[in-house]
Amino acid sequence: MTGTALASPAPPLSAMRHWVFDMDGTLTVAVHDFEQIKRALAIPSGEDILAHLAALPADEADAKHAWLLAHERELAEGARAAPGAVALVRALHSAGCRLGILTRNARELAQVTLQAIGLADAFGADDIVGRDEATPKPSPAGLQYFVRRWQADPQQLVMVGDHRFDLECGRAAGTRTLLVNAPDNPWPGLACWHRADCGAVLAEWAGKGPAA
Ligand SMILES: [Mg+2]
Repeated sequence: MTGTALASPAPPLSAMRHWVFDMDGTLTVAVHDFEQIKRALAIPSGEDILAHLAALPADEADAKHAWLLAHERELAEGARAAPGAVALVRALHSAGCRLGILTRNARELAQVTLQAIGLADAFGADDIVGRDEATPKPSPAGLQYFVRRWQADPQQLVMVGDHRFDLECGRAAGTRTLLVNAPDNPWPGLACWHRADCGAVLAEWAGKGPAA
């Protein structure tokens, strides 16, 4: 594993005031079938979709990005919230926490998704970072943006996600990491915290109350 080792033990989850969420599969019920997408775009199974597209000639990349955007728009318009996700974001928002979205999807589609699940007002446009605003996860670039924007120490941020890329991104940026919606926790070395879903995170948050 690469990345920055955490310098201090994780604080209580309820003490965290800066939250960056992955979108698909974290705040929403996962619906992307990445293998199907790879087949449709003639991308070998073992390859990363965005990295593959980035290496193609411009014409082919443009056509495939257009297909991907249209496919993902359909999914975004039909998005459903993951268990506890809306209540958790509402609670954190009410408590004055800084909230961001860091997604490998397009920012525009993250906004469509947030609208579909009723959270469009909880995230400012500049607090939504998609694949065109920063090098996609697992690069730490998106989280480094939030560290600068919020003038926070990286360890004051928690990256919440459902995928190895979310955790690797957090470790590489030196933030805390919280894995949800992954019952078996396949990446114990990467997650500071592992909770069943956003509902369990909210229960912990609400039980201890926000930090002063
Ligand atoms: Mg995800």
